[in-house]
Amino acid sequence: SRKWSRAMAILKEFEEKSGTPLAKLRQVCDAMDVEMHAGLASEGGSKLNMLISFVDNLPTGDEKGLYYALDLGGTNFRVLRVHLGGKEKGVIGQEFAEVSIPPHLMTGTSEALFDFIAAALAKFVASEPDGFHPPPGRQRELGFTFSFPVRQTSISSGTLIKWTKGFNIEDTVGEDVVGELTKSMEKIGLDMRIAALVNDTIGTLAGGRFYNQDVIAAVILGTGTNAAYVERAHAIPKWHGLIPKSGDMVINMEWGNFRSNLSLTEYDLALDAESLNPGEQIFEKLISGMYLGEIIRRVLLKMAEEADFFGDTVPPKLKVPFILRTPDMAAMHHDTTPDLKVVGNKLKDTLEISNTSLKVRKIVVELCDIVATRGARLAAAGILGILKKLGRDTVKVGEKQKSVIALDGGLYEHYTKFRECLESTLKELLGEEAAETIVIEHANDGSGIGAALLAASHSQYL
Ligand code: ADP
Ligand code: MG
Repeated sequence: SRKWSRAMAILKEFEEKSGTPLAKLRQVCDAMDVEMHAGLASEGGSKLNMLISFVDNLPTGDEKGLYYALDLGGTNFRVLRVHLGGKEKGVIGQEFAEVSIPPHLMTGTSEALFDFIAAALAKFVASEPDGFHPPPGRQRELGFTFSFPVRQTSISSGTLIKWTKGFNIEDTVGEDVVGELTKSMEKIGLDMRIAALVNDTIGTLAGGRFYNQDVIAAVILGTGTNAAYVERAHAIPKWHGLIPKSGDMVINMEWGNFRSNLSLTEYDLALDAESLNPGEQIFEKLISGMYLGEIIRRVLLKMAEEADFFGDTVPPKLKVPFILRTPDMAAMHHDTTPDLKVVGNKLKDTLEISNTSLKVRKIVVELCDIVATRGARLAAAGILGILKKLGRDTVKVGEKQKSVIALDGGLYEHYTKFRECLESTLKELLGEEAAETIVIEHANDGSGIGAALLAASHSQYL
């Protein structure tokens, strides 16, 4: 029918505009490399902040003792206690508690958010068995993973540049987040020292390095997306401090804010315009878990409005922003039942659209594929950009250095098709020979352990 053709035309146009042929990915990779140089050259020199982490030594594996970590990055935050046993024993044990952040605190006041976090931390500490009390006179020490762009002033202090990923609390911007959390801890009498303030990418890099000394970069694909890598300190013109003994400095790229030559569809543009941070985090809005499902919802809404895709009326739920979550999208995308039962059920349960035909369900799966493929391929191009910056994207004669990239985040971990597409695209981009030297490793929960490791290596008792 005419309506169906109109729906197919909308789909096809979206597919074409979302295309990521290899030539385009190579442009993304080259632009990433160029922007990395620019961001390292001067403050504000690029969309990429290329933030200096003050981490110039990654874990060696010798770290020992009991340390705490706090991981705030998306909708959940976690409190961990990690028992490090040194080279021989590795991580002896870890316990954690996960708390979800009430949505009103994500857009409320700074004090309310940090009070909430401190209270959860106090509760975690209070519930621990007797054997865990620190010896008299010794403070508990914490690695604080705070996964938002921070301008560090030392390993244990830094001011928030901006919120991302659905957080928007004006009075935190420009404040030292360690100071904020410390204030809240003092108010309730929680005696703990924040020994290290790190981004989740830095934590993942540190956690990955603990297990594998070939880890040179970390990428997060979760609610948001970001990457960190080990740079040579002398290759950072904007760094005016001393060159560290190691010669290295870990850089938090904040690659979610990359944009450069990316072409956006009308749905991406509308999503961005209506977001909490218009014009910001464009790479993130094409790739990460917070947004993929929302892009699909927007295409489906257009198909419903202009082509009666779900019948004569537009399903009201389809108009609700962020109602279609990326885990639901992944479940539909992974549906292997002959009649796409999972897709049918998800459309019913999340969007209250019942009795969909197999034909319609197939289109929904195709949409999931278009959006996930674009995101995964762009992420692969970003990774190639890092390898290129480091001169590790090609194999030099007589050299067989391995480069390991630690990946983590719910999107990478659970969205199999996304992960597989990212990995095959990276291979495709690298070519067979170079691909043999690059390893992607799932750093399960590296960011929590990594923060504890960095707290250990920056302990006041060393
Ligand atoms: P955060 O990034 O908030 O620190 P995670 O790394 O756990 O937390 O990632 C959570 C995000 O991962 C979710 O917001 C969601 O977008 C995505 N995600 C979680 N589970 C799935 C899934 N099954 N399929 C696809 N994406 C998922
Ligand atoms: Mg996280």
